[in-house]
Amino acid sequence: MKALEQKILNEGTVLGGDILKVGSFLNQQIDVAFLMEMGEEIDKIYKNAGVTKILTIEASGIAVAVAAAAVMKVNVVFAKKNKTSNVSGEVYSANVHSFTHGTDYLVTVPKDYIDANDKILIIDDFLANGKALEGLIDIVEQAGAEVAGCTCAIEKGFQGGGDKLRKKGYKVESLAVIEKMSPGNIEFRK
Ligand code: 5GP
Repeated sequence: MKALEQKILNEGTVLGGDILKVGSFLNQQIDVAFLMEMGEEIDKIYKNAGVTKILTIEASGIAVAVAAAAVMKVNVVFAKKNKTSNVSGEVYSANVHSFTHGTDYLVTVPKDYIDANDKILIIDDFLANGKALEGLIDIVEQAGAEVAGCTCAIEKGFQGGGDKLRKKGYKVESLAVIEKMSPGNIEFRK
């Protein structure tokens, strides 16, 4: 998505530790008009895919997921992050290693919200090593549902998470894929 690449170039800041900061439009302040353009773009990718529901992870995936869901006219379920592994049998859960915090956490989704008839589109804000998406895929598969695909607003391609999932056969289509970045320089995958 060219407009997203331009927005990243104009407003993004590359921090140490391979972190891209996009607080001005996605992670702290939300540019709602632009968010809705991302939603339209995601709808174009999955228009004929028979998606019944969108699954994301709190907190920063929710905005992108809701934008796509508003266009696609489906509901959003978000996985909650729990510090403890003490969860009841009424939830699907998966362990996820956090790229930004360096710790592990458990993500949970109540069994009521996904079932074997669902075709799930998984959405997040960023794709780095792919651990968040792997956890969400695990939850969809525990429910016996189908993964229609995974879309993140921004994939840092050089961290390999997206390509690893593509090799496993999942459809992964990010709106912008960064091939290389350093302070003051961001290059996108062609
Ligand atoms: P992964 O699980 O793919 O390694 O990392 C994805 C998760 O980490 C996303 O849910 C996102 O919130 C966070 N994340 C990873 N890289 C970045 C980044 O460069 N900037 C921001 N703001 N979040 C990131």
